[in-house]
Amino acid sequence: MIAKEYKDFCADLVRNFDKDWAKVGLKVDFGYQFLEHVPLNAWKPMVTLAVDHWEGWPRNWVRAVKEIYQLWKAQEHIERSVTDCEKCNGNGFFSGTKMVEVKPGIFVSYRHTWRCAACRNWFGVMGEKIPAGYPLEIKSQGFEIDIYQKPMPKDQHSFDLTQLVNMTDHRVNQKTDRPAIMPLREFGD
Ligand SMILES: [Zn+2]
Repeated sequence: MIAKEYKDFCADLVRNFDKDWAKVGLKVDFGYQFLEHVPLNAWKPMVTLAVDHWEGWPRNWVRAVKEIYQLWKAQEHIERSVTDCEKCNGNGFFSGTKMVEVKPGIFVSYRHTWRCAACRNWFGVMGEKIPAGYPLEIKSQGFEIDIYQKPMPKDQHSFDLTQLVNMTDHRVNQKTDRPAIMPLREFGD
């Protein structure tokens, strides 16, 4: 059985490209067997994508629709890259501070930022050179953990992060290409 969502998709495009349903209907219905794997919620947004990307009615209907579906999946992936995460409140990163005795009686406060190991919300915002960790695991290494209470709005994310990185002084060792205030094992237990 042909899904209603697919029929709507076809009807919208037939209308947009000024085609005659009597001419294309059979081909389009036939094509459904090759497109059944497309999730039903994709058909509606795929109309817009097809209108944006197709010069005209495609010669190879199934192949053209599959391309649009790939495009939709790619966009969906980007949007979904910010997910709920209870470890980092969805921010994709968190900070921690630790007092380290560098010389007898001299304590220095180290502040560091980690990528959240429980999600990928840091992706596209933070490089993989920043170490990943779980807040509880970092806490067990003696850090005071500082997690942002609420996820930042997406458009502010990178802005605030720039501030944060400046504040936490992420120096990268030019020779090793790794963060300078690392690794944790130098801090001792
Ligand atoms: Zn997370």
